[in-house]
Amino acid sequence: MYQVLDFSHERNITVDDLVRRVEGYYPDADFVMLRKAFSYATKAHLGQKRSSGEDYIIHPINVSATLIKLRMDMDSIIAGLLHDVVEDCGIEPIEIQEEFNPAVAQIVVGLTKISKIKFKTKEESQAENFRKMVVAMAKDIRVIIVKLADRMHNMRTLQYVSEEKQHKIAQETLDIYVPLASRLGINSVKAELEDLCLRFIKPDMYYKLAEKVAMKRSERETYIRSTVDSIKEKFLEYSLKSEVKGRPKHFYSIYKKMVARSVDYDQIQDVLAFRIIVNNITECYKCLGIIHSSYTPIPGRFKDYIAIPKVNNYQSLHTTVIGPKAERIEIQIRTHEMDEVAETGVAAHWKYKEGIAAGTNRLDWIQELLDYNQAVENNSEFMYAVKNDLDIGGVFVFTPQGDVRELRYGATPLDFAYAVHTEVGNKCVGAKVNGKMVPLRYHLKSGDTIEILTNKTQRPSKDWLNIVKSGRARTKIKQYLLKVDRDQNKELGLDLFEKGCRVFNTSLKTIKKMGELDHLISHFSVANFDDLLIQIGVGKLEVKSVLTEVPSIKKNSKESPEDPQKKLDELNSFSSNLSKRVLKKSQSDNAVIVDGLDDLLVRMARCCNPIPGDPIVGYITRGRGVTVHTKGCARIDKGEMSRTVNVEWNAGFNFKHPVAIRVITLDKPGILSLISNKITDQGINIRSALAKSLPDRKGSFVFEIEVKDYSELIKTINNIEGLEEVINVNRV
Ligand code: MN
Repeated sequence: MYQVLDFSHERNITVDDLVRRVEGYYPDADFVMLRKAFSYATKAHLGQKRSSGEDYIIHPINVSATLIKLRMDMDSIIAGLLHDVVEDCGIEPIEIQEEFNPAVAQIVVGLTKISKIKFKTKEESQAENFRKMVVAMAKDIRVIIVKLADRMHNMRTLQYVSEEKQHKIAQETLDIYVPLASRLGINSVKAELEDLCLRFIKPDMYYKLAEKVAMKRSERETYIRSTVDSIKEKFLEYSLKSEVKGRPKHFYSIYKKMVARSVDYDQIQDVLAFRIIVNNITECYKCLGIIHSSYTPIPGRFKDYIAIPKVNNYQSLHTTVIGPKAERIEIQIRTHEMDEVAETGVAAHWKYKEGIAAGTNRLDWIQELLDYNQAVENNSEFMYAVKNDLDIGGVFVFTPQGDVRELRYGATPLDFAYAVHTEVGNKCVGAKVNGKMVPLRYHLKSGDTIEILTNKTQRPSKDWLNIVKSGRARTKIKQYLLKVDRDQNKELGLDLFEKGCRVFNTSLKTIKKMGELDHLISHFSVANFDDLLIQIGVGKLEVKSVLTEVPSIKKNSKESPEDPQKKLDELNSFSSNLSKRVLKKSQSDNAVIVDGLDDLLVRMARCCNPIPGDPIVGYITRGRGVTVHTKGCARIDKGEMSRTVNVEWNAGFNFKHPVAIRVITLDKPGILSLISNKITDQGINIRSALAKSLPDRKGSFVFEIEVKDYSELIKTINNIEGLEEVINVNRV
């Protein structure tokens, strides 16, 4: 009887136990840090209890013990100890980063993110839930391994929570964490979780199986022992050294067989599994030959996962034979290395990658996932889901509340804003991704957390159609622009109509009163008066020909000696000038192009200091030309929308624009020159720098720099943020 890894809940693990266990496989690990994490977590959770009544700290300790059994690296083990301190003790990730290291902090943050994911109910697609997890682990796969260890211990102690919660958590585990453990090849965790799920989802079945398996226990143990002995004996004849072990299969796999074949436990024949472990691949096939010549193999049950490994790297030979006493037994043959990979999956890989900077495995893994998917045709349903996901090439991003949104590949913050709500999209002035300001053209990546900044005065512009990728955003922007166009054209039409009325010494009011509007509507075959105005506004109808069709004007013009022709011509040229103004673009030498207006004095507003790339709007200042503000700048007088004009950045204009940024750093010697170098390395000029020290050993620097445009500014900010000592960078 054997079980390679035992994940049972342990009540009295001391820090010395943990140290000793890590020493077993990683003798020169950082034990000082491990001890520090142990007491840090103990202190943080002091006074907190679990549902079982035990001290809370017992949970994180068990989680890290599981990670040690999986032979994970020190960062993961420490993250296991600290995994609940952000969520349950209100400790800031920055503190973990300072006390331990950025990798540990990042794993803990990832775990906190997962705990905020709202998984959909099983009626909705499991693939989607799975994708959410793929997103979460995309940053650092250790996040998921720690999460699995966390879930394992929670499942181990699930009897202490309400029945409703037991069912919900077990179902979620079966739907999401079991497939994940399987995909990552951590079979020991997968099998254990499956049995625990069965126990809480179908307790009747679980206890019936447990009883059946227990009933024939001594009989079975005798059978296992004698079979192991006879296999070993046969191998000795060929001088093969091997480890042979036997056990009853996991309950869940027996249960699955019963369901698949619609039979009872008593009709399940092959409940015993034997494992033979040898030194190399040649010996594996040798063993297989000996087994097949000693016991009759069952046709169709032989599988060679050594020649063709499973997608999760699992390798082994599988066969089912008629064993002693005509019992069907399943036999797995593999090497020691294969056995370790089979038990710990991707975790076994981890230790070989020790020393590689955290995060560098991320893309490899996703790429691997992609490759596997292309290589394998037939696998379980969830693999299909992953395959599907990767084929779509979507990105999965988080709202600040932890909700996940799926967007097309290449989607921008604007797509995200419209996915949240049309009004959020329409009022979007900017976005923060993972806490940093980004341009609206930024391409979202899976795992990004996005916060949309809105402003009441913001309105969608035509340029946005070039930015967005999703059909929804495109449609919403077009709808808005169409409505605005209609409104503007209607207004222009009304303006022209009223001016025209004055030429003929009448007014719209008079024409209305005389009931002559209906005549116009039917004469020009339009739906209503608004439509007539729009037709005038867009220039389809001449205001002159419309007005001369008004019966009272027709009559008056005949009686009046004064020929209004001159006035009418004036009116028409005014109208056509207006339409041209909308179409014509200036070729000025300014940094900013003002719609249809040449040679205007253009200056940048000091209040919001726009730089190329910012969404902008022009504001006509009497006698001073056009002042350019960022869209949504509070200084633009809301009451005077008529004084705003459309402006856009002149792409061909090359200029340097001053902008100030504030950098908050840890107070370290030489930090100023580090930051300055980051800026000047990019060929950016520093106009001035101002340094100030803050309380708590922090420093504040304000740099005035000259940038070409918004993207250059963002690049500079990101570069500076890349410095370890830098806490944050803001535009001021
Ligand atoms: Mn936990």
